[in-house]
Amino acid sequence: MSVLTPLVSDITAEGLSLVGDVTAEELGLAGTDAMLRGPVSVSLDLMKADDMIAVTGVLEGTAVRQCVRCLKEYDDALAFSVHAAFAREGKEPKSGARQPKTGEARRVRPGSVKTETDVETEDEGDDRYFYQGDHIELASMLREHIILASPMQPLCRENCAGLCARCGKDLNEGPCLCPAEAPSTAIRVIRTTRN
Ligand SMILES: [Zn+2]
Ligand SMILES: [Zn+2]
Repeated sequence: MSVLTPLVSDITAEGLSLVGDVTAEELGLAGTDAMLRGPVSVSLDLMKADDMIAVTGVLEGTAVRQCVRCLKEYDDALAFSVHAAFAREGKEPKSGARQPKTGEARRVRPGSVKTETDVETEDEGDDRYFYQGDHIELASMLREHIILASPMQPLCRENCAGLCARCGKDLNEGPCLCPAEAPSTAIRVIRTTRN
């Protein structure tokens, strides 16, 4: 049985521990989402709580990113904790029953100054997922965690000097021969005519 598709019946009162390596392919990660160097290792604990299954643990591995300044690929260590809750699909409260979010909102006193803070706290809960049948599919949940961990502007190092906008030299390897002050187009035209 794969680490990514545990059986619900294997989760005992003590829970179920899952440890293993999973590949980008098994996670359904496309290269455009995030590139991985080798498999990532996951260590997860599953616990049953009422109708929910809580998943907590850690994911570790190496992502390959491309620096937005020098365009070089570099390895980026991945290590983050995973929190998710799975509910059985089709076991949602029937219409008319108390909807959790509405219920929470009603508890807030009207005009209370702390309303916004309370709402934010509610939204910080575990990410909610669903499962059907006799097993849980963990791949998409882990995939989302990896994508969310990807920086919007990856940098190979904080002070990456980037490429020269004119000659394209990697300025991390030293200065290029371009003049410090970019000459105007007019001067360049005059130089060309002299040659
Ligand atoms: Zn760079
Ligand atoms: Zn240059």
